[in-house]
Amino acid sequence: MDQLFSRANAQRLKKEVTEQVSERGKFLSGKLYNSLNTLHVTDYYADVEIEKLLLRQKEIEVQNITKPHLPPEAKGMVYFSPSGASKCNRELYFKAKNCTKDEMPFYPYHKRWTRNGTAIHEAVQRDLLYIEKYVPDAPFKVARNDKGMPMWEETIKTYKVIEHDGVQFGLYGMSDGILVHQEDNTQVGFEFKTKSTTIGAVGNYKMKDAQEGHKIQCTAYALLFGIYEHLIVYESLAKDKWTANENAKLDLRVFYHQVKPEDVNALLDKCAYITRCVETETVPPKESDKCLFCPYKGICEEVDHEENK
Ligand code: SF4
Repeated sequence: MDQLFSRANAQRLKKEVTEQVSERGKFLSGKLYNSLNTLHVTDYYADVEIEKLLLRQKEIEVQNITKPHLPPEAKGMVYFSPSGASKCNRELYFKAKNCTKDEMPFYPYHKRWTRNGTAIHEAVQRDLLYIEKYVPDAPFKVARNDKGMPMWEETIKTYKVIEHDGVQFGLYGMSDGILVHQEDNTQVGFEFKTKSTTIGAVGNYKMKDAQEGHKIQCTAYALLFGIYEHLIVYESLAKDKWTANENAKLDLRVFYHQVKPEDVNALLDKCAYITRCVETETVPPKESDKCLFCPYKGICEEVDHEENK
């Protein structure tokens, strides 16, 4: 009976905790969604202080162009990046081994596709700074480092050496930003993604939650920056027609994601497994559902061919 009681209690507690999390998730994602929308209907002039800050940030980025891509401690070490955290184990193995990539056909519209995504990243970071100054009772501020710079991209680029399951590997990366929730002073990760195909890609029907790969990316941020709550924003670069007005289809979505200890363990296990594979020259099994953007299809086929001889 005691056992039954405690199991029921545990289930009730779990339900309460989950509901609390989702209530907070709804609250935080709603706040960010509303503040972006409020800014986007506000008429404001360029703010000299904000624009100067962004210029200083650009200066840092330009200075970093000629600096080595990797810090010295990364030398000879297998390392992973947040954006690659959900990739196929075999692809990450080929990358760590510095294997030759396929020659991929690249068309002019591909460049326009990626440059549009990059440009809007900068635009939304500018928006965040304008929100904290021009949206009344702004719920979030962009965290600043000790030099007063916004904490995103180059200002938070970090290399961390991790030991897990008897192996050592690196984690290297930066994120789109760290926000401070004004009500309770908690830090929340900000991740921004664009969709370039159709507006339906971010609609309620096709998008019920943040993409799995993007959640795993947040797990890597938890390891790098110690931040477990994240807001993942999706914006469709395709918009509804200008005259749709209040009936315009959704082009912006915000999802809350909380990284759990088991997510962290799963990612650490994955990185340790690949590191061990690299050390023992063991090619990991294929993950054929992840091949679309993989640049190692050629060598992957060669390995299969050798194995099936
Ligand atoms: S082609 Fe597919 S299975 Fe092979 S390494 Fe790339 S993602 Fe993995």
